[in-house]
Amino acid sequence: MDQPDLTPLEDVRARIARAAKIAGREPGDVELIAISKTHPAEAIVPLIEQGQRVFGENRVQEAQGKWPALIEAHADLKLHLVGQLQSNKADDAVRLFDCIHSLDRPSLVSALGKAMDKLGKQVPCFVQVNIGEEAQKGGCAIADVPALLASAREAQIPVVGLMCVPPFGIEPAPFFALLAKMAAENGLDHLSMGMSDDFETAVKLGATHVRVGSALFGARS
Ligand SMILES: *Cc1c(COP(=O)(O)O)cnc(C)c1O
Repeated sequence: MDQPDLTPLEDVRARIARAAKIAGREPGDVELIAISKTHPAEAIVPLIEQGQRVFGENRVQEAQGKWPALIEAHADLKLHLVGQLQSNKADDAVRLFDCIHSLDRPSLVSALGKAMDKLGKQVPCFVQVNIGEEAQKGGCAIADVPALLASAREAQIPVVGLMCVPPFGIEPAPFFALLAKMAAENGLDHLSMGMSDDFETAVKLGATHVRVGSALFGARS
């Protein structure tokens, strides 16, 4: 399936387009977020030169080290936060990121609401759902999602959709389908789901944002 003459970026884009087409969707309705965590600027620049504009990181501090210089050089870059966020880093996150995918608890609603207020910057957020109900994993419990959405609305945080990372090593499709159902029930248009190993399945099930790291950058050490 993979065509050897394509760059990793072209290959991933082609696979997204193919999956979208199979599902009767427009490839342009799926945003590819290149997850560059652990990779240095030298690995990111070639992707920028190939036209990729949307990137993701999972640590505020790591992103603060890498991205200001890149954004200075390319004003149209967009940076998404896809990792767990500590409340005491809410200000830094609101300052640096264009979108946050890990809103998952009331204390973070309150911290992000205050940070957005203070900085006068509304950052679109996804509510992260612990879709496999895994004890060790981040994300809001399924049953708590409506209440968290209500409190985010009250804090005037623009919630645009739901995000999930399904349990490792089992078929992800039922989890993607459940997240899509929950988003529809709550009137949310966007779904952040799908990583290197499963983004085509996610696109077929309605992902509007796929978060792809190793398929673009190679394995992380
Ligand atoms: C690292 C990470 C990704 C990308 O993972 P790959 O398997 O390398 O594509 C996506 N989402 C989140 C939340 C991550 O932490």
